[in-house]
Amino acid sequence: MPADAFDRRAAELTELLKACRDLSDILNPDELYAAFAGIIKNRFGISKLGLFTYDPEKETFELVFSYGLGKLDFKFKRGKKNLWETILQDKPFAVVDESGDPLFPKFLEKQDLKILPSRLWVPLVMRGEVIGLLTMGPKAGSQPFDDFELYFLQQITAQAAVSINTCRLYVRRKREKEDLDKTLQNLSLLYSIGKAMNYISDLKNLLQYILSQAVEITSAEKGSIMLYNLETDRLNIRVLAGLEDTEYQEKVNNNEISCRSFKPGEGIAGRVFMTSQPMIVNNIREDDLFIKSETSYVRSIACIPMVVYSDVIGVINVTNKKKGKEFTEEDVEMLKAVADQAAVAVNKAQLWDMAVTDSLTGLYVRRYFMVKLQEEIHRAERYNKPLSVVMVDLDRFKNINDTYGHDAGDRALKTISQFFQKNIRDIDAIGRYGGEEFVMLIPDADKKAAFCLAERLRKELAKVKLEDLPPITISLGIATYPSDGTDIEELIKKADAAMYEAKRKGRNRAVKFSRAIKMIRDTDTQVN
Ligand code: GH3
Ligand code: MG
Ligand code: MG
Repeated sequence: MPADAFDRRAAELTELLKACRDLSDILNPDELYAAFAGIIKNRFGISKLGLFTYDPEKETFELVFSYGLGKLDFKFKRGKKNLWETILQDKPFAVVDESGDPLFPKFLEKQDLKILPSRLWVPLVMRGEVIGLLTMGPKAGSQPFDDFELYFLQQITAQAAVSINTCRLYVRRKREKEDLDKTLQNLSLLYSIGKAMNYISDLKNLLQYILSQAVEITSAEKGSIMLYNLETDRLNIRVLAGLEDTEYQEKVNNNEISCRSFKPGEGIAGRVFMTSQPMIVNNIREDDLFIKSETSYVRSIACIPMVVYSDVIGVINVTNKKKGKEFTEEDVEMLKAVADQAAVAVNKAQLWDMAVTDSLTGLYVRRYFMVKLQEEIHRAERYNKPLSVVMVDLDRFKNINDTYGHDAGDRALKTISQFFQKNIRDIDAIGRYGGEEFVMLIPDADKKAAFCLAERLRKELAKVKLEDLPPITISLGIATYPSDGTDIEELIKKADAAMYEAKRKGRNRAVKFSRAIKMIRDTDTQVN
């Protein structure tokens, strides 16, 4: 071999070696296809090129990269025997002969492959497995490919086949790992949701927590939880999340107003309740089950029943998956897992709620309030902090009943109870002590602080609208641990005495207990 030819060959081999090295460094399939095609294009100065990968399951070649071919989503079925065997030989082969006639005319026609103005096809074969196929247009100046060029093509294509295979394995493993990571993440999320549920005993907070998690894990915009009420035989919306109208949402969540309820079987939620089967509807407008008035702001919905033993106690709804996406079976699987845990916790909380809260006012029943008060007294003792007890009695409430009827009186009691609940801190507690008597416990409050609170409540309540009733005033009595007493009975008795002192002094006022106040209620009952 002449020296200059030798030099040229050495340079070409160096180029080949470098090209192979470049390909072996890439782990992203698209980058790899582009790099491989770039090497071929630069080396041979061709303007048309197509790279196909082979899907053995579908026996199909799919175009993954091209230069100058216009049409991009192009596929063709693996061909007849001759072509397939030629491909398996692992060497570049011509598609048209010297005179320009196609070598596989029927196949090319049938598969509409004339769009590839191809001179050469170069198979990508690895260990007998076809990975892909490269199709190349004529070289610049339409010169034939020489032996070394064919050798170069064969070598670089063999390297590309190895790299593509590695790359695909890497991508598949990465995806498997991501799937596994996601499963593990979901499991740990479910675990912590389940654990958190066990720490939340009151129904409202529990429902809000469950809903926030359901909305979050499904990337939904909004959600609601409906619970079944056996007495009315209806599903009631108990908590909402993600509404634009936060004021309305807050009111529903605080049970101040009730929104739409559903009959079993009515709408999507009613259907899910009846059948106990989850449902996804991703195009609400096409689904006649959805209640029409809500179509304006609900695009898609996933609805999951909450089942305890075999009873459905309610449903969790999530609506409008974010970014315009649709709810998937995976979302339903996750929601089901949340709903299963939620159902047990909600059922427990409902039973607890029924036991400790008064059905008319939603406040603690007297017995449970006393348990809480005892706990707080122990805490105050331990931390050496004050604690105040406030007794509240509505003024002249008998007149309200007599004038407006007992039902109007009941509704007023409910509104006033909600007012109290809203206007005390989370750590404070309020119970229904008797018919229209209430008792509050205010931890960490000395007599002065408790008096301020009592006065604030008294003044604010006067502003609360009660349907057609006149404003109702209250009398309040305050006793404080430890100065007025250290046990439950003493504190209650003294707060009660102070409250009666307020009545005696003319009502609509708060009175702090002092030694001057008589302790026997009976002598004070004849106040006017
Ligand atoms: P005051 O306290 O100012 O001395 O007068 P009052 O008329 O409020 O008298 P008292 O505190 O003794 O009130 C008892 C009345 O409250 C009797 C009853 O008419 C009414 N009441 C008690 N429990 C309920 C209830 O659950 N619903 C209704 N509607 N009224 C109740
Ligand atoms: Mg009263
Ligand atoms: Mg009373």
